[in-house]
Amino acid sequence: MSNNEWQVLNVVKTLDEVTALVQQHQVSKFRTSNLKTSTKYSYRCSQYRKYPLCRYDIHVNILDNNPDDIKILSKNVHSHQQHNTTTRLPSSVRESVAKYVKCDLTQTQMKSALSIDHSNIPLPSSQLSNIIRYNRRKNNPEIFYK
Ligand SMILES: [Zn+2]
Repeated sequence: MSNNEWQVLNVVKTLDEVTALVQQHQVSKFRTSNLKTSTKYSYRCSQYRKYPLCRYDIHVNILDNNPDDIKILSKNVHSHQQHNTTTRLPSSVRESVAKYVKCDLTQTQMKSALSIDHSNIPLPSSQLSNIIRYNRRKNNPEIFYK
């Protein structure tokens, strides 16, 4: 299901079409980049706050010398499963991890802290890194888009 390459989603002629398309794809603008010969608008999942791990991205490229040939590129697909993954864990574990993330513990430190605080709850590393990532992004979404 994952698609990590930019691919052309559509080529349109007007900004209205762009607006309709980004609404249809449930993304919202978060950055404008002025490049040498074009302007690039970056969009990301409009439910980003709810699903911080969703990597769906859309770029809209408008060439300075050809503004009615607007290229829309997309990358990845909406992925809203991680939210459910994190909620499947006992809330006590999720609260602890949220707390550890705020204290800036490393994953290894969290693992040992969790094995003391929640020794009866098995927690696979992959799931642990998911909630850590989830919490870090929630706290500081900007750093992942530099
Ligand atoms: Zn999404």
